[in-house]
Amino acid sequence: MTHHALVPFRRWLKPCGGVEKLLVVGEEVGKGEIFNCKMCGQCVLHSTGMTCPMNCPKNLRNGPCGGVRANGHCEVIPEMRCVWVQAWERSQKMPTYGHELHNVLPPLNRQLQGTSAWVNEFTGVAETPPPGWVPVAEIAAGSKK
Ligand code: SF4
Repeated sequence: MTHHALVPFRRWLKPCGGVEKLLVVGEEVGKGEIFNCKMCGQCVLHSTGMTCPMNCPKNLRNGPCGGVRANGHCEVIPEMRCVWVQAWERSQKMPTYGHELHNVLPPLNRQLQGTSAWVNEFTGVAETPPPGWVPVAEIAAGSKK
C-alpha cells in the first residue's frame, strides 16, 4: 500500500484521538502482560528476539553494555538476567527475524513515550529517524563510493 493510500487512515488515527487512546490501552494491557512493554512508542521487538529492550536498566536500544556478568545477569540489577543475553538467545530461535538482532537500531525518540507503537508504525512516525541520524547501512554504502 502506498503512503498516499494511507492518508485517510492517518487522519482517522490522528494523534491523541479517541481511536489512538483505545489502542494505547490495548497495547498497554496486551504487550504489558506478555513483554513487560514500557510504551516507548517505537516497538522493536522483532529486532530484539521479542525481548523488550526498555527493560534494560540503561534503556539500551543496542546492547549489551560491557557490564554483563559472567552468569549472564545484569550489572545494575544482579538478580536479573541481562535483557540482551535473553534477546540473543531468543533471536537464535527466530528463523524469520532473528538476523535483525545484528542491525544497529536508531536512537529512541523520547517524545513518542506513552503513544501507541502500532499507530506510529502504521503512520510511519516510528520510522522517521531523529535529525542527524544516519543509518549504518547508508554510511557503509557511502564509503564504497
Ligand atoms: S520496544 Fe517499546 S513498544 Fe515494544 S515492547 Fe518495548 S517498550 Fe513496548
